[in-house]
Amino acid sequence: MTESGGAPQPPGRTLHRSATRDPGGEDPPPTVLARVPPARPSEAPAREADDSVRYAERGPVAVVTLNRPRYRNAQNSAMTYALDAAFSRAVNSPQVAVIVLAGAGEHFCAGHDIGTPGRDVDTSFDREAVLWWDHVGRAGADARYAREMEVYLGMCRRWREMPKPAIAMVQGACIAGGLMLAWSCDLIVASDDAFFADPVVRMGIPGVEFFAHPWVLGPRFAKEALFTGARFGAQRAYELGMVNRVVPRADLAEAAFGLAEQIATMPTFGLALAKRAVNQCEDLMGMRPGMDSVFGLHHLAHAHNAETSGDSLAGLDARSMRDGSAKKAGG
Ligand code: ZN
Repeated sequence: MTESGGAPQPPGRTLHRSATRDPGGEDPPPTVLARVPPARPSEAPAREADDSVRYAERGPVAVVTLNRPRYRNAQNSAMTYALDAAFSRAVNSPQVAVIVLAGAGEHFCAGHDIGTPGRDVDTSFDREAVLWWDHVGRAGADARYAREMEVYLGMCRRWREMPKPAIAMVQGACIAGGLMLAWSCDLIVASDDAFFADPVVRMGIPGVEFFAHPWVLGPRFAKEALFTGARFGAQRAYELGMVNRVVPRADLAEAAFGLAEQIATMPTFGLALAKRAVNQCEDLMGMRPGMDSVFGLHHLAHAHNAETSGDSLAGLDARSMRDGSAKKAGG
């Protein structure tokens, strides 16, 4: 993972940084479960503790918790690799049958880290999801493509393909990169105050990297969600078939764990095959090649932004993205 922790910064790092930021939300740092890069001396004060993902087992259920509530669980790369380590641990734990993905605090996940002190877009990690080179030290679209293919598209695909069922337990905000996490899970249980949005068209970008929108929202609402960038609520998500259950916030954990425990009574191999069967059919309905083709459009947008404004995110930060998506769509 991260050899480059205390190393001198390569030339061009600053430029690189603005070129590789990603859409989504706000964000922060590391985890207890994975290779968290050592703080570079120049950035040391900004580093959070290494506990950005927590792991626990409750009988047959592994509980993986995003743990950056101060930053509404925004995802930096360290958190991504910590999540990956937690999921690997759950898959490899013989007593675990089902995984619950939760977010600590008031919100499930505000998206990718595009501005917190723990933002780490210029940090090297060992690639786990794809076989490609390190983005650090490379320039322009080369760097962005390498990083996003690994930590965004590649990781979400890897998690979607875990052989154990995963349930996202969602409260509060689930925005942009947060959608990618929830959609990578097989089932979603939401509290009635949960809300969802992919506002990145405001950056000129046609949706987040794991482009499941047409499959999980249907083409018509996928367009509305993208064109407006507006929030939609848990009830609307339920009506669209994106969410399996909507419950009062006070009942969220009970509903999610109740469902997990019910599923855990089934044979694990049967669950793995059933999960794979549905995933294969989704891919036969075009999801995987669709995502690949849209990933090219996504990177065209980043490159256009970088070419015209010098910033691959078109100069927008977490706050402006949040304010822009605060208007609620119908439902
Ligand atoms: Zn991107």
